[in-house]
Amino acid sequence: MKRVGFIGLGNMGLPMASNLLKAGIEINAFDLSTDALRKAEDLGMITKTSAIEVLEDIDALITMLPNNIAVENIFLKENLLGEINKNVIIIESSTISPQVSKNVSKKAADMDIAMLDAPVSGGVKGAELGTLTFIVGGNDDHLKKATPLFEIMGDKTFYAGRSGSGQIAKLCNNMLLAIHMCGTAETIAMGVNSGLDPTILSEIMKNSSGGNWSLEKYNPFPGVMKEVPASNDYSGGFLNSLMLKDLNLAEELATQSESNTPLGKLAKEIYEELNNQGFENLDFSSVQKNYLD
Ligand code: NAD
Repeated sequence: MKRVGFIGLGNMGLPMASNLLKAGIEINAFDLSTDALRKAEDLGMITKTSAIEVLEDIDALITMLPNNIAVENIFLKENLLGEINKNVIIIESSTISPQVSKNVSKKAADMDIAMLDAPVSGGVKGAELGTLTFIVGGNDDHLKKATPLFEIMGDKTFYAGRSGSGQIAKLCNNMLLAIHMCGTAETIAMGVNSGLDPTILSEIMKNSSGGNWSLEKYNPFPGVMKEVPASNDYSGGFLNSLMLKDLNLAEELATQSESNTPLGKLAKEIYEELNNQGFENLDFSSVQKNYLD
């Protein structure tokens, strides 16, 4: 692919686009934020003044937007689907509602336009290092066409099923992530309150049946691991506001699929409270704060 359009150059989008650029692909870039556009220009991307302009001479379009509304605005209100060349493949990588994702993909399919939902896991670090995991829904032939781009921006690509499936799998993953992070934080606190050293306790649990990703890679207790947000005042990482967004989407999915998710609901309430306390811009491991003196 020679040129890719990229809309949404925030914490995730900018480093993802930057990795494509480093791999020799030209980027038509657009974001509502002038600051984001300036950064994109400084990196050598071709900045545009509207989403429609991004469509000039591209082989693929990637969107990395904050929420449902932004995705609907771009594809439906601003009528990108009506303007895009039918040879262009659309990779919609924002985390949004599976239903919205399906609706937009269906409209694209009706117009003979290839569209994948491809939300990511791996966070800002993964975006910077090009080690994201793409979780893809849609037609598997379209996935084959998009694979060279996924391989530049990520390490792993999983095909989850038809349109919307990528979003469903992503929400399942993030609900579980929230649950084991909350469980890990309260458990370490109980051990520490009972006189144990958090590092020793974490090491024991990591190597026992309580082992999980939060313990292995992202310990929420300050000082246990060096390179994680917990040891840096919970700054950076995956924000509480984004985790709450995903838990709300997961709750919606549970309702639609008539699934009983009591722990998912509880995790949502815990993250709601953290956001209400003004911690929306802290990393999601800051749930540990609830259990620190
Ligand atoms: P962000 O808020 O940093 O970036 C979003 C960008 O989109 C902003 O620069 C904003 O100006 C731009 N934008 C919003 N509406 C727009 C529009 N209509 N047209 C053009 N630009 C528009 O968010 P992020 O952290 O980069 O996350 C992007 C998506 O990736 C979200 O859906 C998020 O849930 C998901 N995600 C984030 C992480 C993470 O760790 N940050 C991890 C996995 C997935």
